[in-house]
Amino acid sequence: MAHQAHNIAWQVLAANLRYQTSNAHKQRPSDLVWRYTQTHANDIEYFVESFVRNLHDHTVTERAKYPATYAPPSPDEILLDDATARKINRTVYRWRKAMSRNWTVRDDPPVKWNGSRALCPHDNKANSNSDSNPTCSCPLPLSERKTPAFLRRYTRNDCYRFYKENQDAFTNIELAKTLILHGQMDPLLRIAAHPETDYATWTGVTACPCTSEQLGWESLYRRALDAYITLNIIACFPELWDAECRTQNGLLGASWGSLMEDEYRNTALYQRMLQNCTATAESAVSTYPHLQFFGIPERHVRHMFEFDIGVAMQWPALVQFVNKEQEKKKKKKKKKKKKKEKRVLVEKRKFPFGQVPFDVFLNSTAPPPHLPSDHDIQRVFEILHSKRLPPELVQPILEMAEYDTPQRRLPEPHDPFHRANRDELTRYLTFCWVTLVRCTMLAQELGLRINWKLEVLDCLERVVNVRQGKGLYGYEWVDRGTRRVFYFVDAGGNMLREFTVLEGDVPGFM
Ligand SMILES: [Zn+2]
Ligand SMILES: [Zn+2]
Repeated sequence: MAHQAHNIAWQVLAANLRYQTSNAHKQRPSDLVWRYTQTHANDIEYFVESFVRNLHDHTVTERAKYPATYAPPSPDEILLDDATARKINRTVYRWRKAMSRNWTVRDDPPVKWNGSRALCPHDNKANSNSDSNPTCSCPLPLSERKTPAFLRRYTRNDCYRFYKENQDAFTNIELAKTLILHGQMDPLLRIAAHPETDYATWTGVTACPCTSEQLGWESLYRRALDAYITLNIIACFPELWDAECRTQNGLLGASWGSLMEDEYRNTALYQRMLQNCTATAESAVSTYPHLQFFGIPERHVRHMFEFDIGVAMQWPALVQFVNKEQEKKKKKKKKKKKKKEKRVLVEKRKFPFGQVPFDVFLNSTAPPPHLPSDHDIQRVFEILHSKRLPPELVQPILEMAEYDTPQRRLPEPHDPFHRANRDELTRYLTFCWVTLVRCTMLAQELGLRINWKLEVLDCLERVVNVRQGKGLYGYEWVDRGTRRVFYFVDAGGNMLREFTVLEGDVPGFM
């Protein structure tokens, strides 16, 4: 399920893309860009349809592994049994801590969550001011495992009031996402059978009307989709990751000030995907599999890049930001003498992806620290054991040091296409695909449908060559605003031809 070459028309898609070297003078990034061939619209549609058909087929197969129908759980039932709770406990602890950091909008002081692996023995909801935040500090309180927690409703909220209105419901949605990531679909299929479930509402949910970050289901499957499509596209261009192919094709050596190495990690495509999948997010759990695979710590990639001025001055694409910063300072100086700033800030939407080498992109704020892999944890365990510490003592020590869960999967860090990383890359791509399948399965159970055709097109617009043209497709409202007509566009944004999505279709759950 990694590349699925026989089922998904990757080669047709790749034939419509070409590699573009960077050029500093023209502010042109290293990237994979659309060719806009004669058959562009037909080929893109052919690819998208092969993708959607395959996803549909896999969803049918996956759903057949579970009972055909479910009885809704009873009001006081423990929906998550002990075995399931144990499997997800660690992940819940992790996003509980992340969510506490976001609680600046709340009046309560952040909770110090209990990091122990033991299951919550308390059922103390009655003493609490909030359902999901009981008086005990267990990350997964017993009350959170019962049916009522899964039936909380979303409330539309004003600015800065998301956590005030929706903290409890959002906590359960994050729990549901955790279950999807761990492949624990059974409790979700059961709750989907409950007539009072409000899961379907969690689409298009943002923290307030003026922010765009998705907090519902989309955050989970859109990140998986970005990674799956981007890495599979790159797989079609071995000259960008296989040293032998590279020299054969003579891609080495670019013009002055441009990136000196034509390789996939320097492309805007790869850097943009990495940013989308690993940047700090309100829905922290949806970034975890990607942080772990790419070996990036939480809160390392942000929505604001920060560079040392000395580093920024070495890259033509960053010099403009230094100049602007200095302009600003000159104006300020007249009012007040300030000490010299050594950093320059660049917003994500203005960041010149593909115009700085990968290591500059990755290390912009600080070099990422060493994250323990499975192998590292095993070694530390053995070292402590060799000091005559019994295993029942070694384990709590590792837990306290938060050195008990692998945070990195790649044997060779930060290079998914490195020869030593092939198995992990295959595993990760399979995981991304399975996430799409599970989300589709849950949506169907809720009586919803994810419009995968538009989701895949939107993903291509997000990651491929965003700046070159006017996007991949457009639409117009017709019949007095009751129906949309979709069409593919060329490089200039002109209509190529119409395509069909079902009447009333919109991206996301519907
Ligand atoms: Zn407890
Ligand atoms: Zn707002």
